[in-house]
Amino acid sequence: MASSIRINKICQHCGNEFIAKTTVTKYCGDNCAKRAYKARKKAEKIELNNQETQQIIEDSIIELQTKDFLSVAEVCQLFKVSRTTIWRLMKEGKVNAARIGRKKFITRASINALFKPPIEIKPKPVETEELQIETCWNIGEVERLFNLNSKTLYDAILRFDVPKIQQGKFVYVPKENIISIFGQPK
Ligand SMILES: [Zn+2]
Repeated sequence: MASSIRINKICQHCGNEFIAKTTVTKYCGDNCAKRAYKARKKAEKIELNNQETQQIIEDSIIELQTKDFLSVAEVCQLFKVSRTTIWRLMKEGKVNAARIGRKKFITRASINALFKPPIEIKPKPVETEELQIETCWNIGEVERLFNLNSKTLYDAILRFDVPKIQQGKFVYVPKENIISIFGQPK
């Protein structure tokens, strides 16, 4: 049955009033629908870009957090303080600085004593760290239990994207994944 509804709506793109034939129509016409789509795609792209930039900033901060000696620029970045402040603190002897080549480096310990980093960013845990060793077999065990040679097992691990953890000299894989590939051990 053809719909005969006429609904006054406001186009979500241009803001003009229009008559819609369905309750879900958002735009006054194809042009506005296309433009809105383009605008949405563009916004998504910008958002993705911002996320990537944020990730780069976080990665560099994580790296800085692990350094024992920091350049003045790095201290400024990490502790959100001005160069002037750092130079003053060095002059007053409140931070320990060492000259390496032409550059001055500040010991992390002395700067830590004065400022708390405004952003404490921890590296994201690697997914495989969530694996519990108790729920895993090591590679040797799997080979024995399922009577597999190393190559077959290695290929299967790659092909099925089986997560691995290394502990000491052993590599462990989740029992669950292995069983789902090879069935229960004989
Ligand atoms: Zn419109």
